[in-house]
Amino acid sequence: MTSVTLSTPITGEYEQPIGLGQFNARSTLRRSRVSNHLNSQKSSQINPSNEEVLCSVYEAGEKDVDIAVQAARKSFEGPWAHVTPEGRGKLLVKLAELFEENLNLLAAIESLNNGKGIALAKGDITHSASCLRYYGGWADKIEGKVIDTDPERFNYTRQEPIGVCGQIIPWNFPLLMWSWKIGPAIACGNTVVIKSAEQTPLSALVAAKLIVKAGFPPGVINVISGFGKTTGSALTHHMDVDKIAFTGSTVVGRQILKASAESNLKKVTLELGGKSPNIVFNDADIDNAIAWVNYGIYYNHGQCCCAGSRIFVQEGIYEKFVERFKERTAKNVVGDPFDPKTFQGPQVSKVQFDRIMGYIEQGKSEGATIETGGSRHGTKGYFIQPTIFSNVQPNMKIMQEEIFGPVCSIAKFTNEVDAICQGNNTTYGLAAAVHTANLNTALRVSAGLKAGTVWVNTYNSVHHQLPFGGYKESGIGRELGEAALANYTQTKTVSIRLTNAPFY
Ligand code: NAP
Ligand code: MG
Repeated sequence: MTSVTLSTPITGEYEQPIGLGQFNARSTLRRSRVSNHLNSQKSSQINPSNEEVLCSVYEAGEKDVDIAVQAARKSFEGPWAHVTPEGRGKLLVKLAELFEENLNLLAAIESLNNGKGIALAKGDITHSASCLRYYGGWADKIEGKVIDTDPERFNYTRQEPIGVCGQIIPWNFPLLMWSWKIGPAIACGNTVVIKSAEQTPLSALVAAKLIVKAGFPPGVINVISGFGKTTGSALTHHMDVDKIAFTGSTVVGRQILKASAESNLKKVTLELGGKSPNIVFNDADIDNAIAWVNYGIYYNHGQCCCAGSRIFVQEGIYEKFVERFKERTAKNVVGDPFDPKTFQGPQVSKVQFDRIMGYIEQGKSEGATIETGGSRHGTKGYFIQPTIFSNVQPNMKIMQEEIFGPVCSIAKFTNEVDAICQGNNTTYGLAAAVHTANLNTALRVSAGLKAGTVWVNTYNSVHHQLPFGGYKESGIGRELGEAALANYTQTKTVSIRLTNAPFY
């Protein structure tokens, strides 16, 4: 067992070489002047494929969080403010290049620590690099406006950075979420303290090393590991953090808003859960629809905020669809994440495994029918069989609550209005999809669904140029695209009087 470090890598206070072998996390921590401030708590990192301990990671305590915030503040008020927009852009592009150069290493760490299939993990790293490069391009295109009110005034607006941004990310896409957060924050000129998820801190620590290599000034991006209740809470309650960007559960999202209200009313953006409808009409290309429905629920082992976990099929093709979907599900390769053929690896942790198995038992006891799956896969590791429930009533827990695993519910609908009503029958509103050959149906249903993204004849078609975020209880604010810049800037209005004539 090896100790991987730590908390704030680039404050200038720590010296901490992290060396990682190709598939083997090894590191040393050398503490310097502030070592007595460090929390000595460590968390064991478990390989979810075999339940063995990989290494342990220091958790940032309240004082560590404070050091990181101070470093971010010092940098924001000092050196970082003098880096030009072009300079910020170049740093992000350099970081993107380093992600690409280290693709195999970063992907292997994701597969080890999170359990995701290696092919999927490589996709995550490629998308992370694209996202960082995209926001590098935005850095020198953040512009204000001149607003003409009357001849006596000259008015303009500036889009200024918010300041020190606390960012809290989940375990389902450790580096992709890291990049979605870092990219726009840095492009807009903020500094950052980012907390990885307690289950998957390893890739964030390696990425911290790449930040140094890319040449970011000290204190601009501070990476901390730790638990939500301690490290996360210290960040959200901190009086010198100007903004929190959070991705995770709706339950914790509420706590983040509360922490803001109880502290300094820091700005908050939230990307929360979902229970997204995937709607298939009689006239859809059935092979295409089944491929996307399968991808929509089982991609990343169902651990996606936008997972298409409620599948609604029009009555004319319902029986045929269920049979064909079961056949397709049986073809998904479940197993070792390092086998390139694997589509579904283990769930991230025992807690998640137990939670999902609990929902499966709940579905059975409430009277829903298991069409396929419903049990553990194998005897070691947190693997779960891909599971389809039918005969699911709208008020059942499995139809209403986010399961975050390879488990879906399938139900019938009659017509467009029924599809929209059933699709919207949830407190969430993150994503939705419509499968049909009729453009008018696609447009009407897309307009009627209360979701931040609607996909037509596809699923999980997330792209760094397209805004992503939730209606209803799925979130506040938008990530990705130009829209994300609004999360990380504030508008200053400057109004200049052009005459000395008396005005009262
Ligand atoms: P979570 O608790 O919401 O975790 C997300 C992040 O928030 C983690 O970094 C977490 O730290 C941190 N956190 C937890 N409590 C906090 C607090 N009081 N103050 C500040 N930060 C806090 O999610 P989870 O427990 O890992 O998963 C539970 C369920 O959340 C899942 O089953 C799923 O339904 C949902 N979820 C959604 C997404 C999404 O992408 N929308 C992602 C992950 C989970 P810890 O690592 O210590 O918890
Ligand atoms: Mg949690």
